Amino acid sequence: MPSQVDLAIINADIRTMDSQIPKAEAMVITNERIIAIGSNAEVEIFQSHATKTIDMKGRTILPGFIDTHAHLVGLGRKILHLDFGNTASVEDALRLVKEKVDESPKGKLILGYNWDESNWETPRYLTKEDLDPFTPNNPVILIRVCGHLISVNSVTLKKLDLNLDNPGIDRDIKTGEPTGILREIPIDIQKFQSDEDDFSTVLMEGCRFANSVGITSIHENLYNQQLPFIATYLRLRQRGELTVRIYLNLEAKLLDLLAGLGAPTGLGDDYFRLGGVKVFIDGSIGAQTAAISEPYYDKPDTDGLILFDEKDYTFLITTANALGLQVSTHAIGDRAIDMVIRTHENKSRREFVNRLRHTIIHAEFLTSPLIERVKRLELLLLQQPNFVHRWGLPNGMYDSRLGPKRAKQLNNFRRILDAGIKVAFGSDCMPMDPLYGIYSAATHPYPSIQITTEEAIRLYTIDAAYASFDENNKGSLTPGKLADFVVLSQNPFEIDPKELKDVKVLATYVGGRCVYSNH
Ligand SMILES: [Zn+2]
Repeated sequence: MPSQVDLAIINADIRTMDSQIPKAEAMVITNERIIAIGSNAEVEIFQSHATKTIDMKGRTILPGFIDTHAHLVGLGRKILHLDFGNTASVEDALRLVKEKVDESPKGKLILGYNWDESNWETPRYLTKEDLDPFTPNNPVILIRVCGHLISVNSVTLKKLDLNLDNPGIDRDIKTGEPTGILREIPIDIQKFQSDEDDFSTVLMEGCRFANSVGITSIHENLYNQQLPFIATYLRLRQRGELTVRIYLNLEAKLLDLLAGLGAPTGLGDDYFRLGGVKVFIDGSIGAQTAAISEPYYDKPDTDGLILFDEKDYTFLITTANALGLQVSTHAIGDRAIDMVIRTHENKSRREFVNRLRHTIIHAEFLTSPLIERVKRLELLLLQQPNFVHRWGLPNGMYDSRLGPKRAKQLNNFRRILDAGIKVAFGSDCMPMDPLYGIYSAATHPYPSIQITTEEAIRLYTIDAAYASFDENNKGSLTPGKLADFVVLSQNPFEIDPKELKDVKVLATYVGGRCVYSNH
């Protein structure tokens, strides 16, 4: 026994997510790790050595949630800028923009996130005609919830100076003029910001929010234009101010750099670790850019876009395999997923799939034949349970984009788990909220989607740890593992799944340190 113990937790209702000891009352923490867990009596001997003891008065404790697909930089910025998440109409959204313009100096970028026209009374995209009348002096960039489509005003269009042949520029059928709607065109936001956001404020806001919803670890996906944030992450890490453990994925464009450094997946420490590379194969269903095999129901002239050439993708996978880098591939439509699987199925590459735990991010439109092939390859899926409540309910966005028959085949968690495929949950920050995701998956009306509360929690804890090679390091409350845990207002295992949406996070602990408390 150590001469001093940092923290003893007693009288708790601990669900460990460790099948060896699924329930416990007490645990003891030293040097960020759990050293004992069991009944109050079993840990009593440590208590007299504890610097601090917390009586949980019967409250429920779970392992901290691990969000395997997030964009913390974007989230921090969303908190600091306009968020259209709760707007109900075009007018609502425009009102927010107008208020922001009124309080902003001339020339300052008006940045907005999270708009989703499927929530609006009249579902349509915003155009420059909507924005121009009250934004003559400020660039406006409004990013759709999926991140694949943006609406801008004329000031921004002028500043971007895009090549008008770019097929991502939406144009007026009559005049040929750009409408202000841009698809799949990456924009360097830093270029527009005169007074740059303080980088660490952005990250700290993101971490604070993550902790408030019970998250202790994330897979962060940085875009190339966000690379300066790596230095900020490292600085916060050095100062001991990171309250979320970061597993960092970089864009595939940086593969050469990583090859030069010889940096493999896993480099780093428990707070900041290199994940692998991330690559986009297609867009999103909401923006009608996910690559599907039959045209869209509500836009029959398109079947989406393949954004990454198959030859280049093959080269990428081969190189990453040689370097020991995990590849996480964004693929949503069945046509895009087919391309990913086909590349990994090649004889010389298939053995790496399991060894490097290559993943498909989203994998929404996974048909039965694709499920079989994913299973055979042992590809890992990083999926988003929040999507099925947000867009996958009857008459939801999936229905209008794909028609009800195909929409029913999206995010079939029940069928995917029954096939024996490894899945880890994440939110993609739409919204970042594991309990909402667990509620969404556990209450979905379609039997091909609905899973149990326990399964959903597993996918957000112990099975999510697997995605970063951390199943022996975190994800369950087990002696030797990191003391990352969350205190909840109710025991999710003992309530009707419908009540999951009312469960509150009361406190979040990372390495035995309280990083969030709301009581
Ligand atoms: Zn994403």
